[in-house]
Order: sequence, then C-alpha cells, then structure tokens
Amino acid sequence: MSIDSKTLLNNLFGNNSSSIVPYTIEDSTGMIKLDAMESPFNLPDLLSNELANRISKVEFNRYPDSRAVKAIKSIRDWMKIPNELRIIAGNGSDELISILIMSIAGRDISVAAPDPSFSMFKILAKQYRTKFVPLSLDKDRDINVESWLHSVSKNNVGLVFIPQPNNPTGNLFDHQRLINFIDKTEALVIIDEAYTAFCSSNYLFLAQEKTNVIIMRTLSKIGLAAIRFGILAGNPLLLEQFDKFRLPYNVNSVTQVTVEFAYNHRDDLSRFTKMILRERERVCTEIKLLGYSVWESQTNFLVVITPEGQAELLFNWLK
Ligand code: PMP
Repeated sequence: MSIDSKTLLNNLFGNNSSSIVPYTIEDSTGMIKLDAMESPFNLPDLLSNELANRISKVEFNRYPDSRAVKAIKSIRDWMKIPNELRIIAGNGSDELISILIMSIAGRDISVAAPDPSFSMFKILAKQYRTKFVPLSLDKDRDINVESWLHSVSKNNVGLVFIPQPNNPTGNLFDHQRLINFIDKTEALVIIDEAYTAFCSSNYLFLAQEKTNVIIMRTLSKIGLAAIRFGILAGNPLLLEQFDKFRLPYNVNSVTQVTVEFAYNHRDDLSRFTKMILRERERVCTEIKLLGYSVWESQTNFLVVITPEGQAELLFNWLK
C-alpha cells in the first residue's frame, strides 16, 4: 500500500502549508473587469490584425531569444533607459519579484515593502520561506523614514520593494523621504514603477545615481497585460547576479514580437492612457458628488472611503 496523501502532504509541506496563500483572482464573468488595474481598452481591430500578421511569422518551432534582445532594445528606446543601465526582461513584474526574492532566499535576509502595498511581495517572500517585514505608512500614507530604517536594520532586510506610486493607496511617496531612506539604508531598494504612465514620476535617474536602487516596470497597466512583460533596469554588476536566477527562455516569442510591435505603435497606446487620466478625474468627481471621499490618485485606480459598513453598498452600485 502506498503512502497516504495526508502524510505525503505533511512530509512535503509541513503542517503550516496553509500559511502560504495563493494570489486570488475573483470570477468576473459578465462584468466590466476593473479590479486588476488593467487598461479597459483592448487594441483597436486595425492594430490587432497587423499584430496577428506579425505573430504569424514567429518561428513556433524555435525557443525564444533567451535574452529578448529586440524587445529590450525597443523598451530601452521607448522608456529612455540609459545605456549604462542593464535591463532584464521578465514574464511580468511578478516573475521579476520572484527572481529577486529567490536570489537571496535561504540566506537569513528578509524582504520588506510598505504596508499596505502590492500583495505579491509578501506572497512570494512566504513562498521562498523568507521573512517578510511590513513597513507601516504614516497618517498621510507616506514613508516613515526613521521607523522604516529601524525595521530594516532590526530584521536584516536585504530587499525593499517600494511601489512609486503605491498600490493600493494610489499616492506618490514624498521624494525627499524616499531619497533619505535610500541614502541611509544598506538594503537594495527596488522602485516599482508599475503605474508610472499615470503620473509624472520617473526614478530611472536614481538607478544611475545610487548604488542601491533598481527600477522595475511593466507593460501590464498600459494595455498589454495579456503578454506578461516586465523589466528591471539597474547597475549591470547587480543585475548580472539576478540574471543568474532567470529561467533561460522566460519571455516567450509572441510576447517579444508584441513588445516590438507595441513600441512601434506607442502613440496609439498612449492615447488610451490619456483617456484613462481624463476618466480618473471624471469618475473621481462623480463619486465625490455622491458624498464619498476619494483619495487623490496618481495611478489608474481610485480608493473611495465610505462611512462604516457602506463599502458593499457602493461596490454593488458601482457594479
Ligand atoms: N507592481 C505593482 C505595484 C502592481 O500593482 C502590479 C500589478 N497589479 C505588479 C507589480 C505586477 O505587474 P505585472 O503584471 O507586470 O506582473
């Protein structure tokens, strides 16, 4: 008789396997999906037909370009990433977060991120059995430099993920506080610019100026969530180490040609971003007219504060 599955599970995962929780994605059948901060606008037919034609020329029998050279070249030009910074491409930023944490896992180094912020930082840290340290925000949802520095050194934090602007609070952290924190910490700070298209913030220059900063970006929020493409940009010496933890063919060929295609049609995509910015103002005004308070957003989503117990009412009405 073979081993029973309960013992097998216990042998493999221990008895605290339930502390590892997956990222949950709600069923949105029949709704206009907005909760993953994707763009609501798909590619126009003309563009998607042209893209289909381009994809039909992909050599499906071959592995992808392991270093995604053409896609990275397009991104470098598109995002104006200086040549001194090396770029690593990933299957979405999620994979890059995973690579970063994987590369330090098992060395008694912790991972930190603002609390609240993007849930994958904590989820992935847990998956790699790495301690996660939440860094609390002050009453203005901003960085608390002294307390962050204290937590980071007390917990031997090696990586600090800072979304700028932050998800889910929607605000940009104060520039001077961010710089003070970076200057005083010995940790590597990953500035996650997932929402940079929706504000005027751009910290690429910091990856050049500071040895302990790298930048992470994604195409997911500007209309290309389907292709899963994110990048890290930073000091080549550092990125060379992280690159060792990347799977050889992590970005598939269809994604790579789509990135090049999107770069060639970047003006069409930016028109959608401008529409989202106009809608952000309109929807914000409308919700305020209903009597709710709305946090100022530098992203493509809004946080609405309702009186106690009324969130569900508003949620259902908005649906
Ligand atoms: N960082 C932040 C702050 C995000 O909000 C998200 C997606 N919600 C990501 C990273 C993940 O992006 P990607 O789709 O590239 O994995």
